[in-house]
Amino acid sequence: MEVLVINTGSSSIKYQLYRMPAAEVLARGIVEPLGEKARLTHTYDSRTHSAGVKASDHAEAMEVILQTLVSKTVGVIEDIRQIEAVGHRVVHGGEEFTGSVVIDEEVIASLEKYADLAPLHNPPNLTGIAAARAHLPHARQVACFDTAFHTTIPEVAYMYALPYEIYEKYRVRRYGFHGTSHRYVARRAAALMDRDKYDVNVITCHLGNGCSITAVKDGKSVDTSMGLTPLEGVVMGTRTGDFDPAILFYLAEKGYDCPTLKAICNKESGLLGISGESNDMRTLGKLAAGGNRRARLAVDIFCYRIRKYIGMYTAVLGTVDAVVFTGGIGENAVDVRKQICTGLEQIGIEIDEEINNATCQKEGLISTQNSRVKVFVIPTDEEAAIAKDTYQLAAKGTTHD
Ligand code: ADP
Repeated sequence: MEVLVINTGSSSIKYQLYRMPAAEVLARGIVEPLGEKARLTHTYDSRTHSAGVKASDHAEAMEVILQTLVSKTVGVIEDIRQIEAVGHRVVHGGEEFTGSVVIDEEVIASLEKYADLAPLHNPPNLTGIAAARAHLPHARQVACFDTAFHTTIPEVAYMYALPYEIYEKYRVRRYGFHGTSHRYVARRAAALMDRDKYDVNVITCHLGNGCSITAVKDGKSVDTSMGLTPLEGVVMGTRTGDFDPAILFYLAEKGYDCPTLKAICNKESGLLGISGESNDMRTLGKLAAGGNRRARLAVDIFCYRIRKYIGMYTAVLGTVDAVVFTGGIGENAVDVRKQICTGLEQIGIEIDEEINNATCQKEGLISTQNSRVKVFVIPTDEEAAIAKDTYQLAAKGTTHD
């Protein structure tokens, strides 16, 4: 069975076509930016095809993708009917969706409700679902939520200390994101330790442009650093992470309006805001090594905050079997991993410098033999996890986590 995985952003659609259950990737690509200058980048059979395309909206982009997949020259299947299921990455599933689901009218109505909680993400996700339903009416459509893995977080960790009515009225609480990635690497870590997936305590660090840390107890998420929105938690490429909310009132009194504050906190802060140079860890690493003080400070704050979260989540979990690094920074930035782990020996975390330096973009154990807590680098694969859930729901009507 062929399964198409779709990740719809506001100005792009990313896709990956899988042959299941082998999880063989037949093709992958992206159409972006939607509009007059839209381009398709399509990789198949280790070859890449790139071309300008007519894709002014998500529906047209979906048409381009499907035509490409069956094209005589660069296609990988003969008939779009071979695509029996489509898995959609959906950012916000609210409190309702505790796992992936087959999409029906009721699910769509719920997702429309949550658009308010994720205004940048859920509306394009819904448009992507509508486009896929229109073009592939025979296929099962499945939604996989970034929030689902975190629905096991207990009340004591998801409630904010605001008046309780605010939760009752608006459902303001911690939801967490990157759930598909945290679940994938936590399961993988359990497998690497030869342990049952519900028998491990793991701290998973997803460090990409967006960053989040999750405490996984007995295979279930019990706390995570992102909150109602992806702004909370550790420092990110352009987002603040945790800060005193009174700063917002202070700035509002100085004349900053709400849209400006939102833009500052989400797009102009984090690594970019502190360094004044870049949100890219590679650039900052080079600048810091060359003596740029603010680039150094940005990297130092980034690592310091993650160390604090690892300490906090060690307290939350009691016993920690493993710490996992994933995402573009977690998989590649050996100096950042070293800086985060240095000084954590007291809580049983000790990495082997040589192995750490040699572990880039590949899976590996980077802790020393003496380290009480194992430290892994595990490249994340959210698309593969979505393909697996989608296949299981389409073929068997149920998922196995
Ligand atoms: P996204 O969250 O958009 O999926 P990624 O997971 O691809 O992002 O992570 C992007 C981040 O990974 C960027 O900050 C980038 O600088 C960083 N990164 C990628 N490769 C390296 C590398 N070799 N060394 C250091 N950082 C890297």
